[in-house]
Amino acid sequence: SSARKFAVYGNPIKHSKSPIIHTAFAAQFGHRIEYRAVRVELGDFERSARAFFERGGAGLNVTVPFKPEAAAFADRLSERARRAGAANTLHPAADGAILGDNTDGLGLVRDMVVNLGWAVQGARVLVLGAGGAARGVLEPLLLERPHSLYIANRTASKAGELAGIFGELGDVAGGGLEDLEGRAFDLVINATSAGLSGEVPPLPPAMLTERSCCYDMVYGAEPTAFMRWAAQHAAWAVADGLGMLVEQAAESYYRWHQARPETGPVIRQVREVLAAAA
Ligand code: NDP
Repeated sequence: SSARKFAVYGNPIKHSKSPIIHTAFAAQFGHRIEYRAVRVELGDFERSARAFFERGGAGLNVTVPFKPEAAAFADRLSERARRAGAANTLHPAADGAILGDNTDGLGLVRDMVVNLGWAVQGARVLVLGAGGAARGVLEPLLLERPHSLYIANRTASKAGELAGIFGELGDVAGGGLEDLEGRAFDLVINATSAGLSGEVPPLPPAMLTERSCCYDMVYGAEPTAFMRWAAQHAAWAVADGLGMLVEQAAESYYRWHQARPETGPVIRQVREVLAAAA
């Protein structure tokens, strides 16, 4: 039989590690797949995705900036993708309907809880940012039953909106970065894009305690700006987002192949690829 066809759609897409990750997963099981990274022009997502599935495509990952469009494109959405207003995983059901899910939050939770051994349950959690990445992870985080969850964003009104949408799932509040003064957190998740330009949002160091764990969704060959900031201010532990990337891919893989890949070796493999490219 011929290889099943998969792809990731995004813009930009050149540095995507998804083809390496899915190919490594497939090798664990002897699955025959073809997985391509495709740069889709802005405004062309729906046409491209429709054509992909009409040609028999078995599954599509979707990344920046098309996750909201992917949610709109899906015929049926998981609850968490609907609430996030964003989908990163699409595949056809037996009846041909396109199913949409968002595996980013599960990937984040799995990396923190299973791989890193950090507690979400009972923790005072801070999410920095209120963009697509933050929206995608709030529901899976809240299902872990943190003590409380605070969303802080440069534009405070967006954090307040998200707190309203997700408030029925737990103790959720939101505000501006200046509202962090006088608060302390056990777990801080940086879901801003500030790190892409090497910046750290202005944060009060007193929000960290000697028990705080700090997670940056950004990743690269070197520790990120936010990781360095957290380490300088005596955080207990810091991590970048590479594990999340591999774990969200594993969740997509499970949906498409009904098989759970081993992620540890693949995280190490992609880490080596990043280091070699630096
Ligand atoms: P968006 O553009 O949707 O949102 C960006 C967010 O960052 C907004 O909340 C914005 O605030 C804030 N922000 C941007 N620049 C600054 C700054 N200089 N100081 C303070 N806040 C800032 O991006 P996404 O949510 O889609 O992505 C966020 C990050 O998460 C990206 O770096 C992305 O690479 C990463 N990511 C990683 C994943 C992984 O698997 N590891 C998965 C998904 C995303 P405002 O509202 O005020 O503009």
